[in-house]
This record gives sequence, structure tokens and C-alpha cells, in this order.
Amino acid sequence: MLSCLEYMYHGLGLVRDFNINPIMLKRWLLNVQGNDKDNPFHNFRHSFSVTQMMHGLVYLCEIQERLAPIESLILITSAICHDLDHP
Ligand SMILES: [Zn+2]
Repeated sequence: MLSCLEYMYHGLGLVRDFNINPIMLKRWLLNVQGNDKDNPFHNFRHSFSVTQMMHGLVYLCEIQERLAPIESLILITSAICHDLDHP
């Protein structure tokens, strides 16, 4: 899941556009994973699933062409973090 999330950031050009250090991206994703609760639904797998759907909407539906790069960054990052630390 972490590799796929990294791929999404690279594939959408977010690492390039925002000059994101790839090592920092990896550490940040590990940190998010470590702070998601280990419960039956609102866990990291759910966060990944939502992010995968968001990536599909942005990439496969070509929404990115109509978005500013910052909006793509916000959508993907918000999807990953939307339930962070949810009880
Ligand atoms: Zn959720």
C-alpha cells in the first residue's frame, strides 16, 4: 500500500511539481500508517482504499487537467489523512 501511495504522488507529478523529497514522502506515509488506529474499519487499509478511489477519479477520469496542481495535492493528501487517528 505504501508503494502504491508513493506511486500516486509520483504518477500525478506531485513530487516533481512541489519538489517533494522522496525520502520525506516515504517517511511521512510511514508516519501516517503508524498513526492510523488498528480497528476493524477506520484503519490504514480504509485510508488507502479511499485514496485509491480518489486517485482513480483524478487520473482515470482526467480531472487533473481541470485542476491546479495544488488541488490534486490536496485531494490525494486529504484522502490519505481523512480518518487519521479516528477512534
Ligand atoms: Zn473514512
